[in-house]
Amino acid sequence: AIAIETSIPASYKFKEIKHIVLIASGKGGVGKSTTAVNLALALEQEGAKVGLLDADIYGPSIPSLLGLVDEQPTAKDDKTLNPMQKYGLNTMSIGYLVPAENATVWRGPMASQALNQLLNETDWGELDYLIVDMPPGTGDIQLTMTQKLPASGAVIVTTPQDLALADAQKGIAMFAQVNLPIIGLIENMSYFNCQHCGEKNALFGADGGSELAARHGVPLLAEIPLDIQIREESEKGENLIAQGIKVAEHYVYCAQLLSS
Ligand code: ADP
Repeated sequence: AIAIETSIPASYKFKEIKHIVLIASGKGGVGKSTTAVNLALALEQEGAKVGLLDADIYGPSIPSLLGLVDEQPTAKDDKTLNPMQKYGLNTMSIGYLVPAENATVWRGPMASQALNQLLNETDWGELDYLIVDMPPGTGDIQLTMTQKLPASGAVIVTTPQDLALADAQKGIAMFAQVNLPIIGLIENMSYFNCQHCGEKNALFGADGGSELAARHGVPLLAEIPLDIQIREESEKGENLIAQGIKVAEHYVYCAQLLSS
């Protein structure tokens, strides 16, 4: 198993953070990072102080989603890094520290060391929420992180495709194994509104997310459509929420559910 070291107890380390929320997915490419960023921004718009930790060591996408590629954090002292700031969020990612091509070839011990640093050597300050963009999947690293972080719960992102749903189910099982509450399920890329005829198309299948949620007795927090503005604004590192883009309402609603 991959060891994540904490020299002092996690509960002490994170005492200034009210809630740590893990954003997880069984499969990559389902929109986990996009959801994590927009949820963080939506929570902030609700008045919360929010941090965003990119724990996806092998595929960090937070720097690009926040338009912070090639930017680097400053050191607070010789042991601590200041988080990067964007759109009022405090954020940290391996992507700010090493070039992407380096991290992708790391073996487990290097990756866990890097994660340790992100977790333990960032001066997060006082936060209402630390949103953690987890690595996709349900392996050792995800399990160990879940055990070491005093998280309040996990949100699982899936698409309605059978393969993604099957992997989301594995995620639910993993969190159950370590007794971490599932706050809810978010179905992403749920449908597509045709620009020409206005018809709602369930491209990847209908009702998969709601059925999975019902089967496990967890809330379905949102059904987010496949939307060109989500992809385009995300690629530019823009803030969908602050722009008041219609489709961003889904994240705002989700943040209201989370904070209620
Ligand atoms: P993951 O973190 O699960 O690997 P990402 O958040 O990186 O997935 O998203 C994968 C791709 O899908 C990105 O190009 C992103 O812009 C796009 N994407 C995610 N959610 C949506 C959506 N609801 N509508 C359109 N594009 C989306």
